[in-house]
Amino acid sequence: MTASQKHVVALGECMIELRNVEPELMRQSFGGDTFNTAVYLARLAGGAYRVSYATAIGDNDPYSNAMLANWESEGIGTEFVCKRPGELPGLYTIQVGGTGERVFSYWCQNSAARNYFEGETNSLEARQDEVDVFYLSGISLAILSPAGRDRLYRLMESLRAQDAMIVFDNNYCARLWPSAEAARVAYQTAYALADIALVTLSDELEVHEAQGEAQMLERVAAYPCREVVIKRGALPTEVRGEDGLRAMIPVEHVSRVVDMTAAGDAFAAGYLAARLHGLAPDAAARAGNRLAATVIQYPGAIIPLAAMLTGLLA
Ligand code: ADP
Repeated sequence: MTASQKHVVALGECMIELRNVEPELMRQSFGGDTFNTAVYLARLAGGAYRVSYATAIGDNDPYSNAMLANWESEGIGTEFVCKRPGELPGLYTIQVGGTGERVFSYWCQNSAARNYFEGETNSLEARQDEVDVFYLSGISLAILSPAGRDRLYRLMESLRAQDAMIVFDNNYCARLWPSAEAARVAYQTAYALADIALVTLSDELEVHEAQGEAQMLERVAAYPCREVVIKRGALPTEVRGEDGLRAMIPVEHVSRVVDMTAAGDAFAAGYLAARLHGLAPDAAARAGNRLAATVIQYPGAIIPLAAMLTGLLA
């Protein structure tokens, strides 16, 4: 890494993915929200920054070993990966139902990633001075125990104190939380510690058990982060930044949406990559929308490398 190269660290869980390709035949890959973002970020780095993934896996099973090899092949650093003896990665399946809808099933209750902040100091806590940009999501928060989350908040506080940039994506999965109230408390803490908030409006409405979009938009716009990006599916993306910047960026036209998986994760990667290449928040939202629009035209979370856009960050 060169002195000017920023080190981006994404925190979360990468799972084994099994997807039906025929009724009784499944294809195996890897997926997880912040992991998807880390892959796209690494593909867009172009020497401006480097990316590492922080998580826990098992110490002696073929899937954990295959994950490590997969991350390394994508150019993702593994120095913050913790190997927990006897534990295993989580797993999810994607089945396409009779009317074409996708059904997800998860086996993650005891996954190694959930224990990243349990027990001894992990390598991220030990080497936090190497982090320039820290990326996490509502899922990264949800999978931790309350005590683990407290350790994460302490880490985020010291990252802030060393002037690292913290980016929080509000990706929400209700079944991972004991209550929406517990999620609200955690999200409030994360927003208070984040420099950039990437907010999917529908997720924020769910967290707040709120109905009114207009009222929610006002609340989100007042969050204490210096940059707030509000994603609203196919509606224009709203960007609020420093010096009173406020822009509405239309999404890219897509004639046929194939699979919405990882749309938001790709947006986050496009946005953050553009910011780290020196683009302004409104241009970064354009890059995020473009990458998301590409990703939703392919099946699965991770599109082939050859399908990545060139000139995205120009
Ligand atoms: P998530 O819940 O994964 O965040 P969203 O529905 O908020 O997904 O969409 C994420 C991003 O994907 C949007 O901000 C936009 O850039 C892009 N996107 C979503 N739907 C469409 C669409 N129909 N056409 C083009 N782009 C879209």
